[in-house]
Amino acid sequence: MGPQGAGKGTQAQMLADSFKLPLIATGDMLREIAQSDTPLGLQVRAVQAAGQLVSDDILAQVVKSRLCQTDCENGCILDGFPRTLPQARLLETIAHNLGHQITVISIEVPREQLFKRLSGRQTCSGCGAIYNIYFKPSKSPGVCDLDGQQLFTRSDDNEEAIAQRLALYDQNTRPLLDYYDETKRLQRIDGTGAVEEVFARVVKALGKVVALEAN
Ligand code: AMP
Repeated sequence: MGPQGAGKGTQAQMLADSFKLPLIATGDMLREIAQSDTPLGLQVRAVQAAGQLVSDDILAQVVKSRLCQTDCENGCILDGFPRTLPQARLLETIAHNLGHQITVISIEVPREQLFKRLSGRQTCSGCGAIYNIYFKPSKSPGVCDLDGQQLFTRSDDNEEAIAQRLALYDQNTRPLLDYYDETKRLQRIDGTGAVEEVFARVVKALGKVVALEAN
């Protein structure tokens, strides 16, 4: 968990690769749904573009069916879910039914840095490589160094939507950290510095959890 721009997506992908577990990123799943011209697609597209949260009912449908697939038998890495208390309750039920335990890593980054990370973010429309106009610009503006395809800015990475998303995190999602902390399933880590440094902290925090569970 962590506010938008904390680096959850990057760290989640690295964890999924290292531990050979499926990555379930609800933002990506919803962006895919938003591309279809169905009533659901149109609804999700409008909500995402405004930086608001998609309804818990839609999330329940999307996540439940995904977590029950056989590739999640040994666990999975969740990115962007749960974000609200009803979603956390739903996850408890699903995890209980599947016999899984929940471990939460909170990636913490100062607010001013988050704004720059988000408003400067650009993604390659071809290979998905991520750049940042402040911290990691492409060699030629708007063009991917790797495959020469155009870079785009996510529709919810405009300043208004960023402020909205960070406020929503404080309101809806931050209280979940207390809930996981009280139930001793939370590890907070410093999300500043190089991606590899942060990843080392994540792995160390997970090691701590495994040791706690063993005792
Ligand atoms: P993300 O890629 O995780 O930043 O998610 C992008 C957008 O997808 C969010 O701003 C929401 O509109 C929507 N979204 C993703 N995950 C959830 C969730 N768990 N609950 C509600 N909306 C979500």
